[in-house]
Amino acid sequence: MSDLPVIVFDLGKVLLDFDYAIGARRIAGRSRRNSAEVQAIIEQSRLIVDYESGRMSRKEFYEAVREATGYEGTLEEFSGSFGDIFTPIEPMIGLQRTLREKGFRTYVLSNTNDMAVEHIRREYPFFGNFDGYVYSFETGVLKPQAGIYEAMEALCGRRGADIIYLDDRPNNAEAGASRGWRTILHELPGRSCELLKRMLPKC
Ligand SMILES: [Mg+2]
Repeated sequence: MSDLPVIVFDLGKVLLDFDYAIGARRIAGRSRRNSAEVQAIIEQSRLIVDYESGRMSRKEFYEAVREATGYEGTLEEFSGSFGDIFTPIEPMIGLQRTLREKGFRTYVLSNTNDMAVEHIRREYPFFGNFDGYVYSFETGVLKPQAGIYEAMEALCGRRGADIIYLDDRPNNAEAGASRGWRTILHELPGRSCELLKRMLPKC
């Protein structure tokens, strides 16, 4: 096994930007609520937390949103609207490709749901090129809780400073740092690339 550190990427706002407002607009168009109300129902209620922590299935999430909004579409239509809310952050996708070409193992650690993952797998080929994935809806634990970081350590077989981790949310990044992971709080791609270069001077 290579002695290079492994690189763990958060997904949302690191590799792909996302905006719930896009999905909310589409769902609102077929419901009795306006898009701001739909967005509030999805984001500010416990619904998304229950769904992304695996306590609620896709179908249950759909039924709950349907009940709260009067949405008229099918589950399949709902999945399409809810999943298609992403925009690639090309410099970061390029960074992952470069790291991979240099022999680094790369992983995804994300609070997410199965509709999003299904959509991303279909639309963005780069997403297939990681060595492994830890998703909150599968582990049943959301960042920044320790369990999901432990799941990543178990998957990649590394811990502490052998893991370099990029995440845009301070509390998620801190939870990694508290385990001894070398952590980059992602703000802008140029800055993250620069910080990573400093951590990997020989690359
Ligand atoms: Mg994020």
